[in-house]
Amino acid sequence: MSIEIRSVSKHFGDFTALSDIDLTIPTGDLTALLGPSGGGKSTLLRIIAGLESADTGTVAIEGVDATGVPARKRDVGFVFQHYAAFRHLTVAENVAFGLSIRKQPRKVIAERVEEMLELVHLQQFADRHPAQLSGGQRQRMALARALAIRPRVLLLDEPFGALDAKVRKELREWLRRLHDEVHVTTVFVTHDQEEALEVAHHLVLINQGRIEQVGTSDQLYDEPATSFVMSFLGPVTTFGNTLVRPHDLGIATAPTGRPGEVGGRVLRYNRVGFEVQIEVDLAGAAAPALVTLTRREAAEAGLAGAEQVWVHAVADAVRVPVPHAEPVPAVSAGSRELDPSGVR
Ligand code: ADP
Ligand code: MG
Repeated sequence: MSIEIRSVSKHFGDFTALSDIDLTIPTGDLTALLGPSGGGKSTLLRIIAGLESADTGTVAIEGVDATGVPARKRDVGFVFQHYAAFRHLTVAENVAFGLSIRKQPRKVIAERVEEMLELVHLQQFADRHPAQLSGGQRQRMALARALAIRPRVLLLDEPFGALDAKVRKELREWLRRLHDEVHVTTVFVTHDQEEALEVAHHLVLINQGRIEQVGTSDQLYDEPATSFVMSFLGPVTTFGNTLVRPHDLGIATAPTGRPGEVGGRVLRYNRVGFEVQIEVDLAGAAAPALVTLTRREAAEAGLAGAEQVWVHAVADAVRVPVPHAEPVPAVSAGSRELDPSGVR
């Protein structure tokens, strides 16, 4: 049981927003729809919610075909980036809203609201108005309101997108703990790879209306299916004909004899916080390679001030072929201007 999306396509005029999407979202999990802006994430979420209809295909929620079912009958809770709170209602009344329109008994509503406010740690703000809350508190109120109706599915569209970085980070951790408590099937849309990796168990990477890859955060990070996935999930650099992660390159001030090792000249040595970033002009390479190390590693390798270095990819480096890689011409010792010290 889960959310089953089959052959869903969506066009706006002649623009294809979603192209033949097949996706199963597991019950009880927290799944992130991740991808660049304009890729179709919100459109897919709105189709799951029933706020938008697909041109073709079906959506089933927990085994029940929901394709023609209107949003209010789908049992979904929804939170957007800019949550539209009722400004004239108190926090408690906002949380109660979905239950009131479902004509629940007052006692049931009061109990449920109290439970929800406790869950999102807003008990002491029950009688305030939304304008008297911080941005982060408002989004927590929005979550309490969405969860109050005990939805089968919770859909979150960049819920922390409008908040500042520190609050966002706190709310991510908070959401993860909340999900551990309530276990409602949750779909979380974000364009922020770090946010997706931190929050979600399962990731769905969407680009230009298509799914690039589905998997756990480890699978997407360690076994990217495409160069797009690899570059979207973290920094990459070119090394020979492959994309690698800059921290998967090793660097030394003298040849180490490792297979595939290439000599080069340091173009830039930059300390950024705990990290050292070294840009190296490698012999035979079209573009410089970026190597990142911790400060301690850089100090131990004696790299500060080094001009000639030797770079290799670590044995278990994640590698993906460079898209449309031009074969890098094999450079013979005489055919290229080399540093007098002889890099190759
Ligand atoms: P994302 O959430 O990944 O940023 P969206 O699903 O919002 O992407 O949008 C995908 C594409 O579809 C975008 O190019 C957007 O401009 C377009 N789009 C979305 N909704 C509409 C609409 N109602 N009318 C026309 N184009 C739309
Ligand atoms: Mg969006």
